[in-house]
Amino acid sequence: MPDERHDSEKVAGVLLSRGYRQVESPESASLVLYNTCSIREKAAQKVFSRLGEFRVKQNEGRIIGVLGCVAQQEGEDIFERAPWVSLVCGSASYRKLPELLAQVEAGNQRVTGLDTDTDETFETEMTRRDNPWRAYLTIIEGCDKACSYCVVPYTRGPERSRASDAILREVRQLAELGYSEVQLLGQTVNSYKDPTARGMRFSELLLAVADEPGIRRVRFTTSHPSDFTRDIVDAIDAQTKLCNHVHLPVQSGSTRVLRAMQRTYSREEYLEKIALIRSAMRPISITTDIIVGFPGETEEGLRETLSLLDAVQYDGIFSFKYSPRPHTPSLAMSDAISEEEKSRRLAMLQEKQREIQTRKHAALVGETFEILVSGKSRRENQWSGHTTCHRVINFSSQEPALLGKYVRVQVTGATPNCLVGEQAP
Ligand code: SAM
Ligand code: SF4
Repeated sequence: MPDERHDSEKVAGVLLSRGYRQVESPESASLVLYNTCSIREKAAQKVFSRLGEFRVKQNEGRIIGVLGCVAQQEGEDIFERAPWVSLVCGSASYRKLPELLAQVEAGNQRVTGLDTDTDETFETEMTRRDNPWRAYLTIIEGCDKACSYCVVPYTRGPERSRASDAILREVRQLAELGYSEVQLLGQTVNSYKDPTARGMRFSELLLAVADEPGIRRVRFTTSHPSDFTRDIVDAIDAQTKLCNHVHLPVQSGSTRVLRAMQRTYSREEYLEKIALIRSAMRPISITTDIIVGFPGETEEGLRETLSLLDAVQYDGIFSFKYSPRPHTPSLAMSDAISEEEKSRRLAMLQEKQREIQTRKHAALVGETFEILVSGKSRRENQWSGHTTCHRVINFSSQEPALLGKYVRVQVTGATPNCLVGEQAP
C-alpha cells in the first residue's frame, strides 16, 4: 500500500536528517521503529506478537517504537502490553517525530504522539525514497468521508491538503534528483483543496506537476468517485505526461450495499463516472477495489457486483473479504457473512475478473507501449516495467543498463496478470 510505504520513507528521512544511519537488520539497530497498518487485517494481534520478539532488543539497550494505524488505535495500551516500547506515534503526528525522538533519546520511557485533530500535514525536509525513478508524494492526508467499514478517518484524522507551492517545490527537487515519475498520493487524492490563495483545483495541480522540467509521468491515487469530475479527464486528454490510468474504488455493485457502506454514490452514479472516463480521447485504463461479504450483502448484491465487472471491464481489481475493524460503524451491523461464504464470493469475483483480464490482455498482443524500466530479472536480458496505463510488461532486450530508462516494447504474449514482449527497434 503506497501510503504506508511512503510513510516509512518519510520517517526514514526524518531519522537521516537527525543523524541516524540506516542499518541492514533490526539486530544491528539502536532504534527500531515498527510501522503498522490495520486497514484490513486483524493487525493488532500480529503487532503484539512481533513486539514480543523486540523485547530482547530492548534489553540490549535499544529504543523500540510503534508507528502507524495500530499505534493510533491501541494508543497507550501498547505500553501496558509491551512495556519495553518507549514510543507510540500515529501517522497524524509524524511531524512531531523529531521532537518525540528527542524525548525518547533523553530517556523518557512513555512518549506518545496520538493527536488526530491536527491541521498540519507531514512535510519533511528530507524523505528517503526506495524506488529511484518513481517518487511518491502525499498531497492530502486523512479523510473526511465516513465509509462505515473503514478505520482511516479514525487512524489518520481529518482531511488536510498541502499547499500547492510546497508540492510543486518538492516536485522540482525530485526532478533535479533524477526522478522522472511522480505519484501523488491521498486516501481521496482528488478531493484535494489547495489551502493557499492560489486555490488550485486538483486537475490544475496535475497539469502544473506535469509542467515541471524533467517530469515525464504523473500518477495519482486513490480517487474517490464522488469527487471525480470532468476536468480531470480533460487534463489527462490535454497532457500526455498525465498517465492514462485511474484507480476508482467502487467497493460494491449494489446500491443497497453502497448505502450501508456510506459510500456517497449509487451504482448508477458510479457508472456515470466510468462513462466520463471512457469518453476521453485516449484510452484510460481503470482499476478498482471491491469488498465482498459486507454485512447484509445478499446473493443478489453479489450478482450486482459481478455484473458491474461485466459492465465496466476493469483492467485490474484489488478484491478483499470484508473484515470488521475497530472503531468503525459497520462493526455493530448484524447479518455477518461467514468466512467460508466470503471466500466463496471472493473466488467467484476473482474468476470473473480473470476471464476479463485474459481477454483484454490477449487483445494487446502486437501493440507497442512505452515503458519505464524498473526491474531486471535474474535471467539474462530480461527486464520489466510499467506502461503509462500501469500494466506490467516483462520483456527481453539485448541492450545493457536499461534500469530507469524509457523504452518502447512490443507485446508478444499475454497472461491474465502480465504481458510479455520484446524491445521494439
Ligand atoms: N481511500 C480509498 C477509497 O476510498 O477507496 C482506499 C482506502 S483503503 C486504504 C484501500 C482499500 O481497502 C479500500 O478501497 C477497501 O476496498 C479496502 N478496505 C478498507 N477497509 C476494509 C475492511 N474493513 N474490510 C475489507 N476491506 C477493506
Ligand atoms: Fe476509508 Fe472511505 Fe476515506 Fe477511503 S474514502 S479512506 S475507504 S473512509
